[in-house]
Amino acid sequence: MAEPLLRVERLVRRFGGIVATDHVSLDVARGELHAIIGPNGAGKTTLISQLTGHLAPHAGSVSLAGRDITYLPAYRRCALGLARSFQITSLLLDFTAVDNVALAAQAHAGTSFRFFANARKEKGLRDAAHAALDRVGLGHRADVLVSKLSHGERRQVELAVALASKPKLLLLDEPMAGLGVTESQGMVKLLQELRKEVSIVLVEHDMPAVFALADRISVLVYGRVIASGDPDAIRANEDVKRAYLGEA
Ligand code: ATP
Repeated sequence: MAEPLLRVERLVRRFGGIVATDHVSLDVARGELHAIIGPNGAGKTTLISQLTGHLAPHAGSVSLAGRDITYLPAYRRCALGLARSFQITSLLLDFTAVDNVALAAQAHAGTSFRFFANARKEKGLRDAAHAALDRVGLGHRADVLVSKLSHGERRQVELAVALASKPKLLLLDEPMAGLGVTESQGMVKLLQELRKEVSIVLVEHDMPAVFALADRISVLVYGRVIASGDPDAIRANEDVKRAYLGEA
């Protein structure tokens, strides 16, 4: 079998007496959209944070394209092609959409967080930011302050921020959260487009979206992977129905 893009092996993270991820293992193949589902408190965000380097594991390993990244800091992982969109919005409200994306691209490029050191570099960053906004369908709102954008549009800017680092693997933590029906449908369409270009790990509670998008699904319950498989296998799995899908 081809080497997976992401390999997670027996990852353990505790918070006091709680084992938030309990020997979690999973592989993400190149080109795959791999969804991680499970009840509140199952350990999904804790897992994502260990993949990005925002949280250190107590045991286990993470490798990206065959390279062990378990203890690399977040910015080095980003340079190797990992990008994350956060569950809680992290945008600068008093800046325009394009400024937000350009500033993020500047930070990813490893330069200091100053407001555009020179004109030529600024143009390059702005061009890349406009391209990222175009990719998420928000090019026409590039010069609008983020504070004036709708919740759904802010989600699109967050995706553009993640794309600005040109990732190989995009980690998305609940991109549908707080979206209305029409906005959710727009996000599903957008992810359907993006997945053609980048592998994706998607944490999401919106089950119609998950089943519409995922190649594979891993189900986390109390920090453990209780099932992993294609959408049909997960839908039919009695343990998954009992622990999660019955209530979804
Ligand atoms: P949700 O679907 O509600 O976002 P989740 O599956 O992402 O939940 P986590 O947020 O990863 O779950 O939490 C897993 C467990 O770890 C929970 O019991 C949570 O209370 C605990 N936990 C997470 N972060 C911390 C922390 N910083 N300190 C203490 N406990 C934590």
